[in-house]
Amino acid sequence: PREHGVIEVSDLVVRYGAATALQGVSLSVGAGEMVALVGPNGAGKSTLVDTLSRVVRPASGHARVKGRLAHVPEGRQLFGELSVEDNLRIGAWGQRDRDPEPVYEVLPDLRDFARRKAAALSGGQQQMVAIGRALMARPDVIAVDELSLGLAPKVVSDLAAHLRTLNSERGMAVLLIEQNARLAFELCSRAYVLEAGRMVVSGSCEELARSNEVARAYLGGG
Ligand code: ATP
Repeated sequence: PREHGVIEVSDLVVRYGAATALQGVSLSVGAGEMVALVGPNGAGKSTLVDTLSRVVRPASGHARVKGRLAHVPEGRQLFGELSVEDNLRIGAWGQRDRDPEPVYEVLPDLRDFARRKAAALSGGQQQMVAIGRALMARPDVIAVDELSLGLAPKVVSDLAAHLRTLNSERGMAVLLIEQNARLAFELCSRAYVLEAGRMVVSGSCEELARSNEVARAYLGGG
């Protein structure tokens, strides 16, 4: 566990009624780190993020965020009839400073789309709006849920490049929640693999990508 972690999860247990969704899970994300959480459908990834966002209460253990967490949700969840800029402002809801200018500086494409309806954009452009909306909250860490879902490889690599820049040049801490382990391992320095509510393996992405067991299970080879 890192002492200056922006996210610290330890021995987390979450239940939905009689069903256990997370069984003693620990994870940390340090300031300025980009960390992946990988695992199949139903592994408990959304439950972990929901616990960090305080939507779900732990049965035991804890999930702490130091500072502010902003979530880029699976499926983007934009207001299609609103303009891009209005969608961005929603990310700063309840804050005094709702100026989108700093976000346009980081993601300049958004400035070009600012007046367009979100629904009129491509999937990749919408994903960029969802990232921009998260940044509007001036977060200390962003949790990006299924960045790659439903998007073409070229679009995914463009978005990945933006996240990498955000992380390396702005020091934004990122928790990347992905079913696409190959992308996650390429982008992040460390990764955690969750299966059926348990953390089965974690380590540097380089090591994990080289591990036969992980490769066989998650990279379609080995
Ligand atoms: P996905 O990628 O499909 O979102 P996930 O890894 O995010 O999967 P979770 O959605 O966290 O997994 O689900 C973990 C487990 O908890 C699953 O077995 C799921 O069926 C169960 N679960 C999730 N939400 C609830 C709920 N509200 N009530 C009961 N069971 C739930």
